[in-house]
Amino acid sequence: MNQVGVWWNGNVVGGSSNFMSGYFHRLKPIDFRLKSEFGEISGANIVDWPISYSELEPYYAMVEKEVGVSGRVVEHPHQEPRSSNFPYPPVAELPVSSWIDKAADSIGYHAIPVPRAILSQPDMGRKSCEYSGYCSSYGCSSGAKGSGRAALLNHAVASGNCTIKPNSKVYKIATDKAGKITSVHYYDQVGRKQQVQAKIYVVACQAVETSRLLLASTGEKFPNGLANNNGQVGKNLLFSGGGTGQGDFIFSELSEEKANALKQVGPFINRALQDWYQINDQQFVQQMSKSNSGISQDGRAKGGTIDFLFHQNPIARARGNQWQYDENDNEKLVWGEQLKHALKHEFTSYKTLRFEVFNDWLPTDDCYVSLDDEVTDQWGDPVAKVRIGYHNHDLAVGEYLAKKGEKLLSALGAKNISSSVSGAPSTNLMVAVVVLAMIPKPLYSTKTAKHMKSIIFLLLMVHSCQRAAVYRTHLPFMLMLLEWQILSNQNGKNQ
Ligand SMILES: Cc1cc2nc3c(=O)[nH]c(=O)nc-3n(C[C@H](O)[C@H](O)[C@H](O)COP(=O)(O)OP(=O)(O)OC[C@H]3O[C@@H](n4cnc5c(N)ncnc54)[C@H](O)[C@@H]3O)c2cc1C
Ligand code: SF4
Repeated sequence: MNQVGVWWNGNVVGGSSNFMSGYFHRLKPIDFRLKSEFGEISGANIVDWPISYSELEPYYAMVEKEVGVSGRVVEHPHQEPRSSNFPYPPVAELPVSSWIDKAADSIGYHAIPVPRAILSQPDMGRKSCEYSGYCSSYGCSSGAKGSGRAALLNHAVASGNCTIKPNSKVYKIATDKAGKITSVHYYDQVGRKQQVQAKIYVVACQAVETSRLLLASTGEKFPNGLANNNGQVGKNLLFSGGGTGQGDFIFSELSEEKANALKQVGPFINRALQDWYQINDQQFVQQMSKSNSGISQDGRAKGGTIDFLFHQNPIARARGNQWQYDENDNEKLVWGEQLKHALKHEFTSYKTLRFEVFNDWLPTDDCYVSLDDEVTDQWGDPVAKVRIGYHNHDLAVGEYLAKKGEKLLSALGAKNISSSVSGAPSTNLMVAVVVLAMIPKPLYSTKTAKHMKSIIFLLLMVHSCQRAAVYRTHLPFMLMLLEWQILSNQNGKNQ
C-alpha cells in the first residue's frame, strides 16, 4: 500500500532525542559480529561490523558522562563489559519495580535495572528529573533528559563557537569534479536559497533524510547521489524488530496497599529482561534450524531485550479512549457522557503494565529509501520514498520474546495479558544506509579523519550499522562526541 505519512520523529533543533524516553542500553560485543557468530540468514544481508565493542567502549563511557546517564550495574548473564560505573545513581522507581524483581526471581528470570539518559541529580547546568511523566514524545522542561539539545547543543552555543540556523533545510551537498565537497546548499527560515562552506561537513539527518539528501546530491563524480557509486545509499533500512505486550491490574481485585502503589505516578519502572539476548532454548533453535535461520555452531540464536513501562502521561492514556469500533471495524468518536465515563474508568479502576520487545530487524533488499518521483515537499524537492519489508525471522524472535514477557506479567498476577508482534515498525527507531566497511579503521584516530569523505562516512555509520536488538541513541551521541574530539584536536579548541 502506498501511503503519504508523517513519521514519529524529531524534525527540530536537537533532533529526535528531544522526544526520546531515554532508555539507554548499550550494544553488546555479540552485536558487532552477528554474521560470524550466527551465520548467514537466507534473504538477509548480514555483515559483521569492522569495529568491535571494545573499540567503542571508551566512547560509551564518555557518552554516558556527557549525556548524563543514571543507572546501576548488576551482574547478569548478558552484561556487556564496562570500564566504569554509571555516572549517576538510578532515577526514582515505582513499587512495581521490586514486584517485577520478585516475580522474575520466582520464575528464574533476571530483571535488570534500565539505564536512563535522565539526570537523577542536578549537574552540568541541568536540573534533575522532576518526574513529570512526559518523557516519551514530549520535550523535557527540566533539562534532565539528555537530549542532544540539553546535553550538547546548549553547551556548544554557550562556548560562542556554535551558530544554529533553525528552520533551515539542506537540499544539496555540492561536489567538484574530483568529488570533493565544495558547499552545502540550504533554504533558510524564510525560504531563501543560501550556501555554506566548511572544512568539515557532517551529514546526520537520521536514516531516511540522510539517504534522501545524499541521493539528491548528484555531481559529476557521483551521478547517482553522493557516496552512492556502489548503489548502497538508502539500502538496508532498519527498524527495531519486536512488538508490545500488556496486562492489567484491576484495583478492586487488589489489596488497598497494592492498588495505592499502582496509582502512584511520576517515577519510573526501569526494569528490563535480557535473559534471551542469546537464545539457548533448543526447541526454538530447532524450529529456526529448519529454515537455516541464524543459529550459531553451538546452538544459539540471537534474541533481544524486553523493557517494562507504564504509559505515564495522561494525554496518551486519555487518547486511548477517543475512538470506539463497531463490529465492522468502523470507528466512532467517543464524546460527552460516554467519554467522561470512559476516562473515569481509565484513570480510577485499573492500570496497564506494558512491555516492549526489541530484537533485530534483519537488513534485506526489501527495505530501503529512494527518492519519490511524484511527491515533492514544500520547497519542490522530491520526498523520500520508503519501502518497508521485513524478514520472517524477526517475527519468530519477537514472538518468542513476547511470550517471555507475558510469562512475567502472569507471575505478577496481571489480567487480560496479551502481546502483538508485527512487521509494521515503530518509525521512531530506525537506522540504515551506507556500507560501514568504507569507514577507515581505527575510526577514532584523528589522522584518519582528515578527509571530508571520511567524516561523512563516519557519521553515516550511525545509520548503517545497527542490526541490534536495543535502542540506538548512543550511537548518534557517540559520533557527535567523536566529531567534537576530532575538531578539538584539529583546531586546538572545541567548535
Ligand atoms: C518518541 C521517541 C522516543 C524514543 N525513545 C528512545 C529511547 O528511549 N531510547 C533510544 O535510544 N532511542 C529512542 N528514540 C530514538 C532516538 O531518539 C533516535 O534514534 C535518535 O535520536 C536518532 O538520532 P539521529 O541523530 O540519527 O537523528 P535525529 O535525532 O532525528 O536528528 C536528525 C536531525 O536532522 C535534521 N534534518 C533532517 N533533514 C534535514 C535537512 N534536509 N536539512 C537540515 N536538517 C535536517 C532534523 O531536523 C533533526 O534535527 C526515540 C525517538 C522518539 C521519536
Ligand atoms: S522531567 Fe519529565 S520529561 Fe524530563 S526527564 Fe524527568 S520525567 Fe522525563
